[in-house]
Amino acid sequence: MTFSCILKIIVLSLYQEINTNTMEKTITIQGIASGISTFYTQAKCCHAFTLTANGKSYKVYVRDNDCEWDLNDGEHYTISGIVITDEMVVATSVDRWGRICDVCGKWHTEGYYVGEDEYACSEECAIKLYNGNEAAFREDLALLDDEETADAAVTYWTEWE
Ligand SMILES: [Zn+2]
Repeated sequence: MTFSCILKIIVLSLYQEINTNTMEKTITIQGIASGISTFYTQAKCCHAFTLTANGKSYKVYVRDNDCEWDLNDGEHYTISGIVITDEMVVATSVDRWGRICDVCGKWHTEGYYVGEDEYACSEECAIKLYNGNEAAFREDLALLDDEETADAAVTYWTEWE
């Protein structure tokens, strides 16, 4: 058994006690993930990755159940969890932080949600998702202005947390 494997087991057994211990120090970090790996312990799927925020790196462990999204290297995430050491966190939630533009690939924290789960960082990129049909884009946006059609609106501008 490798050292890192033993470490994972220790972390995960700590994790089980965390739920009953309210004295734990919690933290929320926004950063970029790298080195994502998946492992199983006690038949539970878990992920480990490095989250880099403001030049500092944290080793993050999270159970798959507590992770709302698929994890990808280079993506931005907001994690909340329990501090194990200064550089190690067991996350109780992992959420995406901002979105990657489906047109130009730019990461952004505010932009357009377009139709079938697509993201655009700017009006220009949003129109490209409409194959350049600006009129169709504006028509869809206008649905929001009318109470009767607002619920049907699939394209809108928003801020990602
Ligand atoms: Zn873009």
